[in-house]
Amino acid sequence: MKPKVYFLPLPDGAAPAAQAAALATLFAASDAAQALARNDFTLIKFSVGEKNNDTHIAPALVKTAVDFVRSAGASPFLGETSTLYKGERMDAVKHLLHAERQGFSIAATGAPFIMLDGLLGNSELDVEIQGELFPSVKIAREAVLADSLITLNHPTGHVATGLGACIKNLGMGLASRMGKMRQHSSMKPAVIAEKCVACKKCLEWCPADCIALTAHNKALIDPARCIGCGECLTVCRFDAIQYNWGADPTYLQKAMAEYAYGSVKAKAGKAYHFNIMVNMTKDCDCISRKQHKLIPDLGILASADPVAIDVATLDLTAKAHSANLTALSYPKHDPYIQLRHAAKVGMGSLEYELIDI
Ligand code: SF4
Ligand code: SF4
Repeated sequence: MKPKVYFLPLPDGAAPAAQAAALATLFAASDAAQALARNDFTLIKFSVGEKNNDTHIAPALVKTAVDFVRSAGASPFLGETSTLYKGERMDAVKHLLHAERQGFSIAATGAPFIMLDGLLGNSELDVEIQGELFPSVKIAREAVLADSLITLNHPTGHVATGLGACIKNLGMGLASRMGKMRQHSSMKPAVIAEKCVACKKCLEWCPADCIALTAHNKALIDPARCIGCGECLTVCRFDAIQYNWGADPTYLQKAMAEYAYGSVKAKAGKAYHFNIMVNMTKDCDCISRKQHKLIPDLGILASADPVAIDVATLDLTAKAHSANLTALSYPKHDPYIQLRHAAKVGMGSLEYELIDI
């Protein structure tokens, strides 16, 4: 039997209160309650967005999820992990203060925020998966210990993976710092010297401190120390940095799919996912700048299947617009690499039954 994906459409530009009301309707109309049991510690995973990002999921939607989890008799908490790159979310202290500034206070959401990977991003547990790339993956400790999981995913394009949606929120978003580094290990970018204007932005943001200016005033990356996080690529405003496509371009997507699998492997029947298809932008919410939406808002999807919900996201964006979200943002990427691999390792299905609410 194909997994169910529920779809509740929203008009373009629906206010956060209307989005939250739609999410409440979807919680009630879908089979989300089956993932929750009385006295569960239920992790609600989403991204608060980097500084200057205002297209992330609104706090009102998180409050809706918190209320629903609590009504099932479970104990909801919000959780995130530290980012690899320098910014407002690079450690627990900065991240929690930033989450508050972004509007995700206990007063606004009704639940506490917990850093799943500890103070510095290194609190982790090994989860055996016997994948194609990894025998085990390093997942943030508190995410593994949570009894059940609700993800609120914000689909966007992505500079390195083509699509940032449920698989990415699970795979990258629940990996410890070491886990994130292992996923990025093959993607080494290089500077195009003729385009570099020596603004030093990439030097400031590189988490590995492996970029320096040469005597000719051009940025130069030390590939031996680069961890392939791609941060320099997104902060350079002069298109002066390129990924090394000589490396296997499919590795990151496959690695992310295996990490996503590891994050839900022990939660069979205990995880439920929502893709909030509003304010969909070319780049993900980790980019520290204001973005404009690429396409009009579509609505909200809900499913127990993390693969099917992302496939449905691509299908619905393609149906409503000239091409799917990835093709409109980063056409060089094939987002089905992550989806096919996730299905192959046993995480979910590429096929689904769409149920309109
Ligand atoms: S951000 Fe771009 S232009 Fe600025 S120093 Fe780095 S490579 Fe050069
Ligand atoms: S040089 Fe490497 S480690 Fe530094 S920001 Fe770029 S991809 Fe990340």
